Amino acid sequence: MAKQIKVSLIGNPNTGKTSVFNLLTGLNQQVGNYPGITVEKKEGICKLPRGVKAHILDLPGTYSLNASSLDENVVIEILLNRKDKDFPDVAVVVTDVENLKRNLLLFTQIKDLEIPTILVINMADRMSKTGISLDIPLLEKELNTKIALISARKNQGIDELKELILSYKTLPVKPCLNALSFDPDYFGRLQKAFPDQSLYKLWLVITQDVNFRKVEKKKLSISPDFEIKSESELKRFQQKETIKRYQFINQVLKKGLFVDEKSATGLRARLDRVLTHRFWGYFIFFAILLLIFQAIYDWSSYPMDLIDEGFAWLSESTKSLLPAGPFVDLITDGIIPGLGGIVIFIPQIAFLFLFISILEESGYMSRVVFLMDRVMRKFGLSGKSVVPLVSGTACAIPAVMATRNIENWKERLITILVVPFTTCSARLPVYLIIISLVIPDKKVGWVFSYQSLTLMLLYFIGFGGAVGAAWILNKVLKTKSKNYFVIEMPSYKVPLLKNVLINVVEKTKAFVFGAGKIIMALSIILWVFASFGPNDQFSNAEEIVTAEYPNLSQEELDQKIAAHKLEYSFIGYAGKAIEPIVAPLGYDWKIGIGIISSFAAREVFVGTLATIYSVGSDEDETIKNRMAAEVHPVTGTPLFNLASGISLLLFYAFAMQCMSTLAIVKRETNGWKWPMTQLVFMSVLAYSIALIAYQVLK
Ligand code: GDP
Ligand code: MG
Repeated sequence: MAKQIKVSLIGNPNTGKTSVFNLLTGLNQQVGNYPGITVEKKEGICKLPRGVKAHILDLPGTYSLNASSLDENVVIEILLNRKDKDFPDVAVVVTDVENLKRNLLLFTQIKDLEIPTILVINMADRMSKTGISLDIPLLEKELNTKIALISARKNQGIDELKELILSYKTLPVKPCLNALSFDPDYFGRLQKAFPDQSLYKLWLVITQDVNFRKVEKKKLSISPDFEIKSESELKRFQQKETIKRYQFINQVLKKGLFVDEKSATGLRARLDRVLTHRFWGYFIFFAILLLIFQAIYDWSSYPMDLIDEGFAWLSESTKSLLPAGPFVDLITDGIIPGLGGIVIFIPQIAFLFLFISILEESGYMSRVVFLMDRVMRKFGLSGKSVVPLVSGTACAIPAVMATRNIENWKERLITILVVPFTTCSARLPVYLIIISLVIPDKKVGWVFSYQSLTLMLLYFIGFGGAVGAAWILNKVLKTKSKNYFVIEMPSYKVPLLKNVLINVVEKTKAFVFGAGKIIMALSIILWVFASFGPNDQFSNAEEIVTAEYPNLSQEELDQKIAAHKLEYSFIGYAGKAIEPIVAPLGYDWKIGIGIISSFAAREVFVGTLATIYSVGSDEDETIKNRMAAEVHPVTGTPLFNLASGISLLLFYAFAMQCMSTLAIVKRETNGWKWPMTQLVFMSVLAYSIALIAYQVLK
């Protein structure tokens, strides 16, 4: 394989890095994580002229090389370490022509590392509207660099950028500033102690160690006789550095950038006033949330039903085509439904990310953050947590994925951990049937029924659980994650279709291949446990049931057999084994089986009970009637009474009964630590609350 040119895209957030990345790589991209941390790593291949290829890395958005967050630290780690496999042959710094002054700070820092650097000035299409003009040759000379003036939106200037990448060996590497100018005394001594090292690099290693104590001093060993200043002194030097850099940038831009104020339009200011208005801002945002909610809850139910039926059909026709046997059972009852259980989420994920991408792309999301941040921050959440939390009421899977937009790791983690508290749509069937059994069908006043009030209360409990848990987690979690408050207010733009579509495709792929594997594995395990038993009560179920009920029709017999098999399967035994544990909550072993198997998805609870009570397709023998007729084996009172019913409702309100959520949290947090913590915590909480409820009410 010919050598690929290694290119890193670096830049402040919202400068169009990802748009440039998409233009360079198209769909030739993949998303992973940096080893050991949850910062997203996007890489792809770009075809350059003359058959050369470039490997493009879209680094996390960063404001400067003075790292204060995990994301930024990734960038510094790579740039400081020439041996790192991601160390670039050429650094492409992407800037926004409207924010050039602030964006150039990072550029000058990267220049000072003496890495071959190209300066991309993006959003050139905005120049005429905002009245900006640039003297490119002068800027190139003053900044010792090559400049590509492009518009990722209009697909202009990309070929020039590719040419520059191709000729990376001829790029100037002369730095912009000399670190000595920050503080001649301190930096002079530093230079003397390490005469053969790059001064600026040394400085970055020192400050990085201050900001991230855990980072090993692997790249450069600090000499024992060079005294490292106190943290506050180093911070002071960092400030001096920033001032010097801005002085340099101001002086360059004075000569090379001109703004004709008159031609700028005031549309942005007017839109901002409405969208961040104390009333209209919230009003518009909640209207948009409603639309999103409608899409993932309602509109996606059509493709989801199709997928559901499609997989059921696939399973049935496979069954009829192939000879019966355990292997075919594995395919038709284990693998195909498992696959279906993955594919079924695609419509919701696609819809949600379609909306989120549009909101982000248009620049509106930044206004939402501005609007919601103050409220959400009290609970350790971010303004951007609102979208995941609301989406969680449809399904936790897309909701957890939507937290990726939250840059701050601690806020993102808290959001991921609390999203499963919100009442997802899979809880609804469980709630509905139990409510109809145990809550009296009476009205309070004339309009509201006890039943609908209970349902509403359960939604509130879900939301309250999420916010309360966030508040506690914010106090408890020690994760280091500095929050220096920069709200980006990019200009409004019509979303780039290409960015939106790539984002939707990529999120869907990430789910299918990331979480899909775990969902598949767990559903096969659950299938095995439900389809095999340890003894001949299971294997001889047919004979046993037929002997016991000689006079039943074939259909009724089949139901009895299915119930018998489930009772003596591994899951059945597990249900009986946990009976002593769930008895204090008012449940018996049958409910125990329901709880265990509903780990596949909560709504499975109802279906499992239908099987175990051998409910047929008979009109008047509904699952509800059967459940109502069940009596408790010990007390002889109805099994589903107010106490056990409320206890069960509360159990499902707090328990993390969903392997797909577990799988997606594993993927999004890059390890088993957080999903397991979440599983244990939520299960203990659900158990305790259900226990208290039952013991008080019984
Ligand atoms: P990143 O945060 O640096 O990865 O930036 P993105 O690629 O996500 O882009 C941020 C916003 O700028 C999006 O709304 C893009 O559609 C928009 N954008 C990107 N390139 C251009 C451009 O050349 N012109 C204009 N007008 N907008 C652009
Ligand atoms: Mg990006």
